[in-house]
Amino acid sequence: MTETPVLVIGGGPAGIAAACTLAAAGLPVTLVEQGDRPGGAIHRRPADAATPPVPAPPGQEDRWRALEAGLAAAAERVTVRTRCLFLGVDADGLCLIEDRAVARVDALAPRALVLAVGAVERVRPVPGWHHAGVVTAGGLQVMMKRTGRVPDGRWVLAGSGPLLMAVASQMSALGRPPLALLEASVPLGPAAAALLAAPEYLAEGAWHAGNLLRRRVPVRAGWRLERIEAADGGLRLLARDRRGRRHTLDTDRVALHDGIRPNDFGLAEEGDACGFPVVRAGDCREVLGGRAAVADGRAAALRVLDRLGRPHPDGPAPGPVLARHRRAQAALARLYDGAASGTLSLPDDTVLCRCENRTVGDLRAALEGDRPSPREVRLTARFGMGACQGRFCADWVVAALRERGAAEAEAAAAAMTGRRWPLRPVPIRAFLDQNTTRAAERDEHARADERETDTERT
Ligand SMILES: Cc1cc2nc3c(=O)[nH]c(=O)nc-3n(C[C@H](O)[C@H](O)[C@H](O)COP(=O)(O)OP(=O)(O)OC[C@H]3O[C@@H](n4cnc5c(N)ncnc54)[C@H](O)[C@@H]3O)c2cc1C
Repeated sequence: MTETPVLVIGGGPAGIAAACTLAAAGLPVTLVEQGDRPGGAIHRRPADAATPPVPAPPGQEDRWRALEAGLAAAAERVTVRTRCLFLGVDADGLCLIEDRAVARVDALAPRALVLAVGAVERVRPVPGWHHAGVVTAGGLQVMMKRTGRVPDGRWVLAGSGPLLMAVASQMSALGRPPLALLEASVPLGPAAAALLAAPEYLAEGAWHAGNLLRRRVPVRAGWRLERIEAADGGLRLLARDRRGRRHTLDTDRVALHDGIRPNDFGLAEEGDACGFPVVRAGDCREVLGGRAAVADGRAAALRVLDRLGRPHPDGPAPGPVLARHRRAQAALARLYDGAASGTLSLPDDTVLCRCENRTVGDLRAALEGDRPSPREVRLTARFGMGACQGRFCADWVVAALRERGAAEAEAAAAAMTGRRWPLRPVPIRAFLDQNTTRAAERDEHARADERETDTERT
């Protein structure tokens, strides 16, 4: 009889590390990845194998090769299913996986579930961010990583966080630097000294800074983007520097970014409520970066083994690695504190929910009168109700609720976002095929039961 596999969702560093650790402990694993190959956000590869990967800081390629080699070595126990999207756990405790290659939903009953679905970007809304030509910096990086080149046009990067610098540096290394990088924070000060204890972060920062210096990219620290206007077939950006002076920049496209947060939308909680152990790993549990994600994947696998009563395989203890990266990430967060969360200070015409075109003015109106709960705001003003189920607007809506005096727990982003499967929209056709599969299975079981009864009679 074949053993029921552990299901690992996400083929980034955390998912791969979890799968390899579970395989080393002798368990069969199914690793599910929505993309066409593993790698995750950091090690995403070009769609065309002949295209060289986007230049990366020293050591990054080596880390990817180590993960790839680990996965190849575990191939006997780990089945990798790419182009497969995890949709959630249904009421029967079955994990629903949409296999996009054949447009079908599979319902799997795993021995345990490891969720390693990474992080999502935060983007602080700004009036005009809904114009064509505005993307997220992570979205721009995905385009570069998939094609090996910078999309056409003049680019400005704006917002706050180390990813902005990384994307500007990679654009420069590809020969197409941005017109400017507007960083809302001034990333200097005592917190920078805390990074001395994490030299790999400093080395990475130095590699990016070198690329920006070589291509003379103007880096404007302390500049906040205030408005984006459509102008002359392109975009006009209105920004304010740290002394309060206004500036105008003309560009074709702009990439926005204000940090990353766990991609925990609608995810099952850690525990046994689903009827099997569920654990989270990597950035979807706690955003600690790519290096820590490997250690966290291992830590998640060890928690699964504990729950299943299985011994741990040999390997390093993940705790100290995670503690070190937690300190480094805390220092980075202090350096990049420019992503101020104030929502109600934004002008009324700022679109907050891009799915349903709901504005700050709509939110202000919804907050009038008795203090509404996040759920009431969701139901009455349709924030968090669009196709993305609040992935973009929920954080900013709860920030507004807190500005109006709601306590942290009362105004949790989870109350604004969908908690039920499917995590993403899925074609009804794929469900019909799933139902057909289930009906066929049920009929087959019924026939088998009949055969058994007949045999017993004879
Ligand atoms: C947009 C973005 C860009 C980044 N770029 C950099 C960078 O340039 N340099 C850097 O050091 N760090 C970068 N980071 C941070 C870095 O990616 C993470 O710290 C690290 O990759 C975390 O590893 P992980 O395995 O937890 O998640 P990830 O590497 O994000 O892997 C998660 C995987 O899960 C898959 N997935 C998600 N949802 C589903 C689903 N429902 N079904 C199936 N599969 C699913 C995703 O396709 C992905 O492959 C970036 C983060 C983001 C969000």
